[in-house]
Amino acid sequence: LNILWMGVRLLRESMGGLMDEALPAAELERLQACLHAAMAGAIQIHALKTRRAGRLVFAEFHLVVPGEMPVREAHAICDRLEATLQQALPTAVVTIHVEPETQAE
Ligand SMILES: [Zn+2]
Repeated sequence: LNILWMGVRLLRESMGGLMDEALPAAELERLQACLHAAMAGAIQIHALKTRRAGRLVFAEFHLVVPGEMPVREAHAICDRLEATLQQALPTAVVTIHVEPETQAE
């Protein structure tokens, strides 16, 4: 029974490397802390999702900003957050969905 169980675990571990998989909770928390430290000017970050595919990690989240914020400012915040994530996780591919405060969902 023990051998069978080990076989299942090994199979799951090797499949995990091939199939898309969210990052472990501790890693997700670390990324969230990095984002929060670099989000000055924005109101909130939510809906952070990650998915590992081979050596790449796809990360996406929603960024809530004041509705009247100029696009160039929101864009500067996005650039900063992308750079922060890439520093924390060099193989990150980042997608940010910007939302005005009044339409955050
Ligand atoms: Zn949202």
